Amino acid sequence: MTRVAIVGAGIAGIACASRLRDAGIGVTLFDKARGVGGRLATRRVKTKRGEIAFDQGATHFTARSAEFRALVEGWERDELVARWSAAGEDGWVGTPSINTPLKAMARDLDVRLSCPVTALTRGPAGWTLHSEAQRLGEFDIAVIAIPAEQAAPLLSLHDFEMARAAMSVRSYPCWSAMFAFAEPLRGLSDFVRGSGPLACAVRDSAKPGRTPGERWVVQGSWDWSEAHLTHESGSICALLLAELGRLAEYELPHPLHASAHRWLFAQPSGQDRRLLWNADIGLGACGDWLSHGFAEFAWQTGHALGEAIMLSRMSDDAPRPTVIADVP
Ligand SMILES: Cc1cc2nc3c(=O)[nH]c(=O)nc-3n(C[C@H](O)[C@H](O)[C@H](O)COP(=O)(O)OP(=O)(O)OC[C@H]3O[C@@H](n4cnc5c(N)ncnc54)[C@H](O)[C@@H]3O)c2cc1C
Repeated sequence: MTRVAIVGAGIAGIACASRLRDAGIGVTLFDKARGVGGRLATRRVKTKRGEIAFDQGATHFTARSAEFRALVEGWERDELVARWSAAGEDGWVGTPSINTPLKAMARDLDVRLSCPVTALTRGPAGWTLHSEAQRLGEFDIAVIAIPAEQAAPLLSLHDFEMARAAMSVRSYPCWSAMFAFAEPLRGLSDFVRGSGPLACAVRDSAKPGRTPGERWVVQGSWDWSEAHLTHESGSICALLLAELGRLAEYELPHPLHASAHRWLFAQPSGQDRRLLWNADIGLGACGDWLSHGFAEFAWQTGHALGEAIMLSRMSDDAPRPTVIADVP
């Protein structure tokens, strides 16, 4: 049986894994984080008033392509997601957390968490994955489903074209600040698209399926976040809270909770939809950096890579796919 290792259990890696699993191919996912979902991320915080949660990465996602929409509508029937019109006509969120549908998909998959992959080596038996000094196992196929800047060093020893594709991508950073208040803030709609320093300000607690309370996620724009990359999170909270106050046009109450997360590789520069697959050595790459910096596109690259791998395993007579292919 073919064994596939996927590095990265974000939406792209999970999409690829699901496609392969459905075709009867054995897959193991490795992720350095403690949970699945990658940038579809929920931060849980213990406070004196109990645990609260914020979607600290992607605020919502779209489902415009037929295949992804069909999947999302299935999630909706299973009450894993809901439409959130505040984010736009085709805005969706996981319920009760942005990563809920990915956690559900991962339940049937072999996922190894807290497992950073630091190197890939290739020998006669196939691929060996390493985490520092530890060998993680041997596989026939390796898939890299992590941001471009992190993928490039893993790819560079094995396929220079793939590494070059990763090195040509630039990811933009984003500071994401999270605030809880005792009372609802007046005069603000639930989703405010920002300008200048702000990318957006989102009343996180207004999303469907959330617990009561008044919680906001305020995200800095790419330029602003880059200019403030090395600031302390305390000063980022103060600056983004002031921006939220400017939007509200009154002095905001002191928040019950304030914290900030710095995403170094929040969203990539974007390119035509592509996947990378080298059938000769059994090495593939997927993720939003091969398309555009949104969850739906990341899913498409992972799903398409799963198809490409499956097709190339089905028949020895099949033509070898090109190293770089457009996502259908
Ligand atoms: C602040 C912010 C706002 C955003 N807003 C939106 C939005 O409104 N709408 C939208 O659609 N998208 C949005 N996005 C983008 C969206 O989140 C991404 O496009 C999508 O989640 C990318 O998925 P991915 O699977 O390609 O990568 P990721 O989600 O980054 O998954 C990669 C995984 O790989 C793991 N990993 C990395 N290196 C290693 C390693 N060496 N070993 C093991 N594991 C590793 C990581 O822990 C991670 O879990 C936003 C992102 C951010 C950060």
